[in-house]
Amino acid sequence: MDMISDRSNPDHLLGMLIEKKGEFISGESISGMAGVTRSAIWKQINHLKSLGYVIESAPRKGYCLISSPDLLLPEEIHARANLKTLGRRIHYRSSVDSTNILAKLLASKGEPHGTLIIAEEQLTGKGRLGRKWVSPSGGIWFSVILRPSLPPYEAPKLTLLAAVAVAQTLRSFGAAASIKWPNDILSGGKKICGILTELSAEIDAVNFVVLGIGLNVNNTQFPEELSKQATSLHNVMGENLDRADVLARLLHTLEIDLEQAEREGFDNILIKWRALCGTLGHRIMVTGINRTFEGVALDIDGTGALLVENDEGVVEKVLSGDVSIRTRDWNKTNLPG
Ligand code: ADP
Repeated sequence: MDMISDRSNPDHLLGMLIEKKGEFISGESISGMAGVTRSAIWKQINHLKSLGYVIESAPRKGYCLISSPDLLLPEEIHARANLKTLGRRIHYRSSVDSTNILAKLLASKGEPHGTLIIAEEQLTGKGRLGRKWVSPSGGIWFSVILRPSLPPYEAPKLTLLAAVAVAQTLRSFGAAASIKWPNDILSGGKKICGILTELSAEIDAVNFVVLGIGLNVNNTQFPEELSKQATSLHNVMGENLDRADVLARLLHTLEIDLEQAEREGFDNILIKWRALCGTLGHRIMVTGINRTFEGVALDIDGTGALLVENDEGVVEKVLSGDVSIRTRDWNKTNLPG
C-alpha cells in the first residue's frame, strides 16, 4: 500500500477512531466532521479492516475501534506525538526498495523540510559505502528530508544529532544504548540501529539532507553472518514493543534536538554525543580506505571527525572509515552500552 498523509488534510476517520479507541462514534459525527457521505465512511472502514484494524459497528451507535494492527501508519504516529515540523507530510509504503532512495527522489522534486518516508520493509535497504541494510517487517525503517540552512561541511553533524536522538530514545525505553563512531547505535555491544546520511549540495549551500534511520525493533531473526553482531529492541527488552510508540518518541526527540541545533548550533548536541559514545577512551582499530591503524579514541572535533592518538603519540583526525574496539569485555563493563 502506498499512501501520502498531509497534516493539512488528515485522515479524520482513523484519527477519530484512534482517539476514541474503545468508544462508539456515530456515523453522523464522523460524516459531520469529515464532510463525507455515510457510504464513503463505510468504504473507508472496510479499507481499515482490510489492513487489520478491528472495528465494531452497531446500528445507531456507529463505529468503535477495538484494536489496531502493528503498522506505522501516519495517523498512528500523529496520535502518539504532537510533532511540529517533522511528519507534516508522510509517505507511507508497505514495501519499498530503500526509503533513502525514495526520499532523495522526492526531495529532488521539491518535498519540503520535515517530510518523512516510512516503510514496513525495505527490499534493498542501504548502509554506508554500498553495504546492505537488512530490513524485514518488524523494524522501523524511515528517512527524513531536511533542508537545513547549513554550510555543506556542517552536514555530518546531522548524523551525530540523529545518533544522539536514537540513543536517547532507546534509553528512555530502558534499553542500553551507546553510540559507536560515527553512526551506529549499539546495545550490549551489538548493532541495533544504523544511520545513513546523504547530502545534496552545491559548493556553498545544502540543497537537502536525507537522514535514513534503520532500527531493529520486533525483527528478531538476522541472517547467519549478522547474528553475532546485530540485536533488536525486542531481544534487549525481552518483549515486543509498540513500534508506533517507539517511532513517535524517536521523532519527538529528533525534532527537539533539531530545533536546539537550529537555535544554538551543535555545541550541546556534541556534548550529548560524547556522553552517549562508547568509543571514546578506548583502544580502537581504524580501518580506512587506504590503511588500518590502532590507537586510542580521544574525542571528536567540532566537525564530527574522530581524533585518535596513534602508537607514536600523534593525534590523527579520522574523517571516515570503520572503527572496532580492541579491548573491551562487554560483560564486565558497567558502561550503559
Ligand atoms: P557499518 O558502519 O557498521 O559498516 P553501515 O551503517 O554501513 O555499517 O551498515 C551496513 C552494515 O551493517 C552491513 O554491512 C551489516 O554488517 C550490518 N547490518 C545490515 N543490516 C543490519 C541490521 N538490520 N541490523 C544490524 N546490522 C545490520
